[in-house]
Amino acid sequence: MIVASPKSITELKKIVARHEKVLFAGCGTCVTVCLAGGEREVGILGSAVRMSLKLAGHPDVVVDECTIERQCEDAFIDALAPRVAGYDAICSLACGAGVQTLAERFHMPDRQRGRTPTVVAAAGTLVGSEITFDSLADLLARSLGTAW
Ligand code: SF4
Repeated sequence: MIVASPKSITELKKIVARHEKVLFAGCGTCVTVCLAGGEREVGILGSAVRMSLKLAGHPDVVVDECTIERQCEDAFIDALAPRVAGYDAICSLACGAGVQTLAERFHMPDRQRGRTPTVVAAAGTLVGSEITFDSLADLLARSLGTAW
């Protein structure tokens, strides 16, 4: 079982502010189930980061969002491929496997823009035995919308 937790808005804002155009990429399987990086969470984080950047004086940074079914499988990444051109960075909300697979696929020079898109992990992952009572309690509280 894979459970993840997204980075804070402050951390994400710092990552994103270094770029001009960033794509937040969600994953529609494990991190959707644990409410950390599915379509809904990507939408919420994207809006929060855009608002935060505006308030911090970086209104020109473009933050877009998308979600694919599984970031760890090439067949699903094919659907993302046409969308990544022109982005400076892809912020993956998937687990480490998804981040790694996206990096292997897309971390290559963008010849049109003369840049190298970066794949950044936007979530921390807790895998198998690393899952603790506190992390599960936090997850449950977040899913219920209450503080633990
Ligand atoms: S990339 Fe990670 S979170 Fe997404 S489906 Fe694969 S194992 Fe699950």
